[in-house]
Amino acid sequence: MSCCSDDYAVGTVDCCGEIDFTKTPVAELYGSNSFSNAIMKQRLPKNIYKEILAVQAGEKELSLEVAEVVAASIRDWAVEKGATHYTHWFHPLTGLTAEKHDSFISPAGDGTVIMEFSGKELIKGEPDASSFPSGGLRATFEARGYTAWDVTSPAFLKQDRTGLTLCIPTAFISYYGQALDKKVPLLKSIDALNKQAIRVLRGIGNATTKRVYTTVGPEQEYFLVDKKFYDQRPDLILTGRTVFGVLPAKGQEMEDHYFGALKERVADFMRELNYELWKVGIPAKTQHNEVAPNQFEIAPIYTNSTAAVDGNQLVMETIRSVARRHGMEGLLHEKPFAGVNGSGKHNNWSIATDDGINLFEPGENPESNARFLLFAAAVVEAVDRYALLIRSSAATAANDFRLGANEAPPAIISIFFGGPLTEILDNIAEGKSSGKSEADAKIKIGVTSLPSLPKDVSDRNRTSPFAFTGNKFEFRMVGSSQSIATPNTYLNAAVAQVLSEFADKLESVPKGTAASDKNDAIQAIIKESYAKHRKVVFNGNGYSDEWVREAERRGLPNVRNAPDALSVLIRSETIALFEAHKIFTREEMESRYHIYLEKYSKQVNIEAGVTIDLARRYIFPSVTAYAGSLAGDAAALAAIGAANVPQAKRAKKIADFSAELYDETAKLETALAEAQGIDDPAAQAKAYFEKVRPGMDAVRSRADALERIVAKEAWPFPGYEELLFKL
Ligand code: ADP
Ligand code: MG
Repeated sequence: MSCCSDDYAVGTVDCCGEIDFTKTPVAELYGSNSFSNAIMKQRLPKNIYKEILAVQAGEKELSLEVAEVVAASIRDWAVEKGATHYTHWFHPLTGLTAEKHDSFISPAGDGTVIMEFSGKELIKGEPDASSFPSGGLRATFEARGYTAWDVTSPAFLKQDRTGLTLCIPTAFISYYGQALDKKVPLLKSIDALNKQAIRVLRGIGNATTKRVYTTVGPEQEYFLVDKKFYDQRPDLILTGRTVFGVLPAKGQEMEDHYFGALKERVADFMRELNYELWKVGIPAKTQHNEVAPNQFEIAPIYTNSTAAVDGNQLVMETIRSVARRHGMEGLLHEKPFAGVNGSGKHNNWSIATDDGINLFEPGENPESNARFLLFAAAVVEAVDRYALLIRSSAATAANDFRLGANEAPPAIISIFFGGPLTEILDNIAEGKSSGKSEADAKIKIGVTSLPSLPKDVSDRNRTSPFAFTGNKFEFRMVGSSQSIATPNTYLNAAVAQVLSEFADKLESVPKGTAASDKNDAIQAIIKESYAKHRKVVFNGNGYSDEWVREAERRGLPNVRNAPDALSVLIRSETIALFEAHKIFTREEMESRYHIYLEKYSKQVNIEAGVTIDLARRYIFPSVTAYAGSLAGDAAALAAIGAANVPQAKRAKKIADFSAELYDETAKLETALAEAQGIDDPAAQAKAYFEKVRPGMDAVRSRADALERIVAKEAWPFPGYEELLFKL
C-alpha cells in the first residue's frame, strides 16, 4: 500500500500527516494546532484549569506545581500530533519573532529516548540570545536573557512539510529583569490600563466589573508578486522594496483592483492562508483586493491584544510561507513600489471588561452613555497630549514613505468622531444650550439617552489616522511590516494616564453624594477635558493641504520623518508617563530610543548600498552597452546613406543620463560614507535622512529616466509591469 493510498486520504489527515483542507469541516480544523482554553479545559484536571484561568486573569502567579501538570499535558497533546521540538517564541526588539528549537527527547540510558517536557521548561527558558538588540542593557559577558511563558496567549503548533514544532508565546527579559522585547511592556501597559479603568468605573458607580483588558483587530495589507520576477530583483530580495522602477502607463487610477474579483491563483493562496491561520486558532475573517495592483488585505476577528499581537506576527509569517508554496512572494514592506499606495496596518482597538462590556459602545441607557462619553473623552485627551508619542509608534524608515509623503494617512495625529458625536461632545464642552430644550436634555449625560448614533456615519472617514468607527478606535498609521505591540503599548499607557487623572477627580467626590450631583461631576470632567483637547478632533479630509494648514493653526504637530518622531521617546514627560505606570524605566526607554534610531540608520544604509550596487553593476553596464550598440547601428545606417538616424540621438540621450547616473552614484557613495562615520545615533539617523535619502532619490531619478527609454530587453530587471500586473 503506498503512502498516499485511499486509506490515508479519507478523513482529515493525508499520508504526510497534513490535514486535507478540502475534506475537513472548518469547525473541526479551527484551532486544531492551538492549545487553546477549550483544549486545556478538555485535557487538564478541573482544579488546574481553574488555576490557569486565574493566572490569565492576573489574579495569581503560576506555580511550578501547576506548570508541571500543564507541561505534561501540552507535551502529550503536541507529541500525539507529531511534534518533535518545542520553542519559546518571543518578540525581540528587531520587530520580528524569534525561536530556538529544542527537541523533546531525553535519553533513557539504554539507548532509547523518551519525550520529556518539564514545568520549568514551559515557564522559563534561557535562550542566551545575546545577539538581539538590547541598547546597552545587556553586555555580552552578562548576556543571560530569559523567556517566560505568557499565559494570556495560547501555545500553538507550527507546521512545516515534515513535522510540527510546539511554540510557547513568551516574554523576553534580562537577568536583571529589564524588558528586552515588545511583549513585556505591552503586558504592563494592559495592567496599567486595567488598574486606572477600574478606578474610573468604580468612580461612576460600577461595582461589578473585575477586570478590564484591551482588544485589538489588526487589518493587514500586503502585496503578492510572482516569485520568478521577485528572484530577479535584488532590491526586493535585500530591502523588501524596489529602489528603482517606473510605473507602466497604467497604475491604480482605474480603481479596478480594489474589491475586484480575486484571480484564481490569489484565491487559492488566500484559501490556504485561511486554513493555516485557522489551524493555529487565528480567526481570519475578511480578505479582499486592495487599491494598488497586486495589493491585498486580510483581517482577523479581534481578540485580546496579546493574542492579537502574536496572531498578527503569525499572519505576516504565514502570508510569506504560503505565498512561496504558490510560486509567489508576499511583500510586507510599507512601500514596495513608488507611484501606487503603500501598505499599512489598521490597529482596531477597544477596551473590554470581563463582564462583557465594550467601553466604547455608545449606550442605550443613561449610565452607559455617561460611561461611553467619559472613556471617549479620555481617548481624545490622551491622543492630544501624547500625539507625538503615538506618532512615534509608527516611526520607521519604511513607514516614512507613507507618513512623510502625500499618502495615507498624514503624519498629523487627529481623531475622527463623525458629526453627531462631535456635536454632543462640543455641546458638553461649551455647556451649551442649543436653544431647544430637547437638545439640552440630550446633552445632560447620565440622565437621558444619547441620540442614537448611526454607525455608518462614524464609519465613513478613511483619511483620519485615528478614527472612531462605531465601537472602537482605528489607528491607521502603523506600518504593514511592524509589530503592533509598541503602538498598543503607547496607546494603553497614554489612556491609562488620563484615566488616572479622571479617577483622582471622581474619587474626590464625597461618598454618599446624590446620583445627580455625581452626574454633574462626571459631566464636569468631560467638559473640562474635551474643551481643552478637542483641537485634535477633525472630521474633514485628512489628505488635503487645507488640513495641513488648519492643523498648524491648531498647533498640532506634523512630524514627517522617523528620526525626529523618535526623539519624543527620551523627553522627560514621556519617561514620567512610563515610570508612573511601571511600563518602562528611563534606562529601558533610552535603550529603545537608540535601538530604533540604529534600526532606522541600518535600514537606510542597506537601501543606499543596494542602490549604489544596482546602479553600478547592473544598470550602468546594461545601458551603456545598449547606447554603444545604438551608436554602432547609427554609424552603420549613416554609412549606407540613411538620412534620419534617431538611433544616434537616442544613444546620446542614454549616454548623457548614464553620465548623470554615474555622478549621482558617486555622490551618494560620499554621503553614505559620511553618515557611516557618525558616532552619535541621533546625528547619524538625521544624516541618513537628510543626506543619504535624497542622494538615493537622485540616483533613482536618473535610473528611472533610463528605464523609460532603454529597450525592454536591455533593462537588467523585470519592471513594474511584471511585478505589479502579472500574477
Ligand atoms: P474596515 O475595513 O471597514 O475598517 P474590517 O471589518 O476590515 O473593517 O476590520 C475591522 C476590524 O476591527 C476587524 O478586525 C474587527 O474584528 C475589528 N474590531 C471590531 N470590533 C472590535 C473591538 N471591539 N475591538 C477591537 N477590534 C474590533
Ligand atoms: Mg479599516
